[in-house]
Amino acid sequence: MPENGTANIGVVGLAVMGSNLARNLASREGNTVAVFNRSPERTQTLVSEHPEAGFVAAEAYDEFVASLAKPRTAIIMVQAGKGTDAVISELVKRFEPGDIIVDGGNANFHDTIRREAEISTTGIHFVGTGISGGEEGALNGPSIMPGGTAEAYETLGPILASIAAVADGEPCVTHVGTDGAGHFVKMVHNGIEYADMQLIAEAYDLIRQGTGKSPAEIADIFAEWNTGELESYLIEITAEVLRQTDAATGEPLVDVILDEAGAKGTGAWTVQNALELGVPTSGIAEAVFARSLSSKRAQREAAAGLPGPAQPWSVDPADHDAFVEDVRRALYASKIIAYSQGFDEIVAGAEQFGWNIDKGEIAKIWRAGCIIRARFLNRITEAYVEDPGLVVLVSAPYFRDAIAASQESWRNVVAIAAKAGIPAPAFSSSLSYYDGLRAPRLPASLVQGQRDFFGAHTYRRVDKPGVFHTLWSGDHSEIETTPSSH
Ligand code: NAP
Repeated sequence: MPENGTANIGVVGLAVMGSNLARNLASREGNTVAVFNRSPERTQTLVSEHPEAGFVAAEAYDEFVASLAKPRTAIIMVQAGKGTDAVISELVKRFEPGDIIVDGGNANFHDTIRREAEISTTGIHFVGTGISGGEEGALNGPSIMPGGTAEAYETLGPILASIAAVADGEPCVTHVGTDGAGHFVKMVHNGIEYADMQLIAEAYDLIRQGTGKSPAEIADIFAEWNTGELESYLIEITAEVLRQTDAATGEPLVDVILDEAGAKGTGAWTVQNALELGVPTSGIAEAVFARSLSSKRAQREAAAGLPGPAQPWSVDPADHDAFVEDVRRALYASKIIAYSQGFDEIVAGAEQFGWNIDKGEIAKIWRAGCIIRARFLNRITEAYVEDPGLVVLVSAPYFRDAIAASQESWRNVVAIAAKAGIPAPAFSSSLSYYDGLRAPRLPASLVQGQRDFFGAHTYRRVDKPGVFHTLWSGDHSEIETTPSSH
C-alpha cells in the first residue's frame, strides 16, 4: 500500500491545461501540489521553470500516488477519451476507498457516467468536472463545473473554489449535479459558445459587406458594443482580432486567415444530445453547421458560380449608423435565443439523467473565467431566482422586454441578409425559432394530417380529448382509436 504523502492535491497531465492548473493550485495558500506526466520531460520543464510553486514531482504512478496525502485527490488533465481511461486505470489500481479522482478534461458526459458507475464500485470517488477558460483561465481562474457525489464535493469544493475565477466576490464553481452533470453542462456551455461566435461573425460580415467599413473600423464598433448590454469576453476579443494587422502582408489579419473554421467536437455533441432529447437548439446547430460548410472547400468551389441576387447591395452611407444599430440589436436578440435554447437543453438533460441542476447557479458560475462570460448572465440568474420553474428563459420579463426592443431591427437585418444574399444562418434561424415559439398555431397540424394519411399515425383534436384516425383509403370518415406509439 502506498505511504501517506504530503501533497493535498495532485495533477496528472502537464500539457498546457494541466501545467497551468497545477501552477494555479500551487499559488493558493495551503496547497502542496504533486505533479506527474506520462513523458517525464514535461514534468521536468514545469518544475524547473516554476521553482516558486514547490511542486512535488513524480516520474512514475507509484511515486505520484505515494506523494499524495490521504484521502488522496488527483485531477486528471489529459487528452479526453483513451488518454483519460488509461490514467484512470492506473490510479484506480493504487487509490483506496474515499480517495477522489477528478477528470478535468473535456470528456463526453456519457463516458463520465460510465466511469463513475464503474469506479464507484471500488469506493473511490470519481468526479467529472468541466473546466472552461482555456489556458489563461486554467492559470488565473477558470469557471469550474464539477459533477460527482455531494460527499466528494465536500472535500473537493474548497480546493476548486480556491482556484476558480471570481465574479462579484463569488467563486465560479458549484456542485452541478451527480455523475456526468458537470461535463453535460460544460458541453452545453461550449455549444452556446459556438452560437455566440457565429452570431458575432455574422454581425461583422453584414456590417463589412453592407457599409464597406474596414476591419479596424468594425473593431471600434465592437469595442463600443462592449461597453453596453453586449459586454462579454467574446465581443472584447473580436475587437482585438479585427484590429490585428498581418506583419507579413500589412493586410488585416482577418483577411489573411483561411475562412475554414475548425471544431473539436463539443458543439456537435451539444447538437447530437439536443436531437436525442428533442430540444430545438437551432442556433447552436446552425453555428456547428456553418463551421462544417466553411470547411467544405470542394463544394464551395463547385457552387461558387451559382446565381445570387441580381442587384449588388450596400447600405446608403446616411443609414450606416442605423444599420449598425440594427445589427447590434439583432445580435443581442439572437444571443438571448442561443442561451435560452442552451438552458432548455440543460433542463431536458437534468430531467433525462436525474440531475438536480440549479439553472441560476449555472448562469452565475459562467459570469467569469469562461469563454462565454458576459454581463447579461446576471439577468439569467435573476430570471431563475425570480421564477425557478421558468418554462422558457426568453419568456422572463427582462428578456421579453429586450426582444421587444430589438425585434424590428432583428427582422430588418434577417430580411436584408436574405435579399442581399449574405448568409446569416444563426440570425435567421434564431428569429424563426422565436416566431415558432410565440406562434398561437403552427402548421404542425398539417404534418400530423400527413403522418396520419401515409402511416395511420393518428392525431389529437383541438375540440375534444382522444386519439383519432381518418380512414384515408376508405370513406374518409374519422374513427377514435388507441394512442399510436409513433
Ligand atoms: P491535450 O493536448 O489534450 O493532451 C495532452 C496531454 O495528455 C499530455 O500531458 C499527454 O501526455 C497526455 N496523455 C495523452 N494520452 C495519454 C495516456 N494514454 N496516458 C497518459 N497521458 C496521456 O492537453 P491540453 O490541451 O492541456 O488539454 C487537457 C484536457 O483539458 C483535454 O481533455 C482538453 O480537452 C481539456 N481542455 C482543454 C482546453 C484548452 O483550451 N486547451 C480547455 C478546456 C479543457 P504526454 O506528454 O506523455 O504525451
